[in-house]
Amino acid sequence: MSQEPHVIVPEHVPPVALAELGEGQQQKLDTIAHHVRGILSALGLDLKDPNLAETDLRVAKMYVEMFHGLAEGAEPKVTTFPNEEQYSHMVMEKQIPFYSMCAHHLVPFYGHAHIAYIPRDRILGLSKFARILEFYAKRPQLQERLTEQVVTYLEEKLQPLGAMVVIEARHLCVEMRGVKKPGALTVTSALRGIFHQKSVREEFLDLLRHG
Ligand SMILES: [Zn+2]
Repeated sequence: MSQEPHVIVPEHVPPVALAELGEGQQQKLDTIAHHVRGILSALGLDLKDPNLAETDLRVAKMYVEMFHGLAEGAEPKVTTFPNEEQYSHMVMEKQIPFYSMCAHHLVPFYGHAHIAYIPRDRILGLSKFARILEFYAKRPQLQERLTEQVVTYLEEKLQPLGAMVVIEARHLCVEMRGVKKPGALTVTSALRGIFHQKSVREEFLDLLRHG
């Protein structure tokens, strides 16, 4: 992997700077806050309680941040580089942490993604894996769809020989309610191209376990 040129930049996307919100965003905050007040009232809570007095706006701001992937212009600017070294082995970024919100229940699911591809003509800066993941995670989401969206993005941007994404996550909607299975991990995978070959998948798993 040492022959792969890349630029190291911080992996974490900065949170939305609320001070920079435009008028449309302010309207969105007000609308969400209004509905949060409705929910709290329907639950019989006293909105004059000091702990609840500003909960509506706090939740609204939090939603805007957690669903930032939906905002216009949120898609990361991903530049690719020519594969000048003709690197033709697997590039893997593993244990990338993420937090998302289950589209069915609007409670968090979170865990790690392992993303790999085998380049053809273009390569990707390593920090970009986390940004792509973050972009698709910051919206009401399904783990299955998140996995597919990341692998599809890699395929479209890089046209690699192949790509594979594995996501392991805990779902609070499973752990806190219903069947209540604390600690259960949901694992999803999606693959393209040469990763359909068993030997390539085995290399992926080997790098995941030991690499
Ligand atoms: Zn759920």
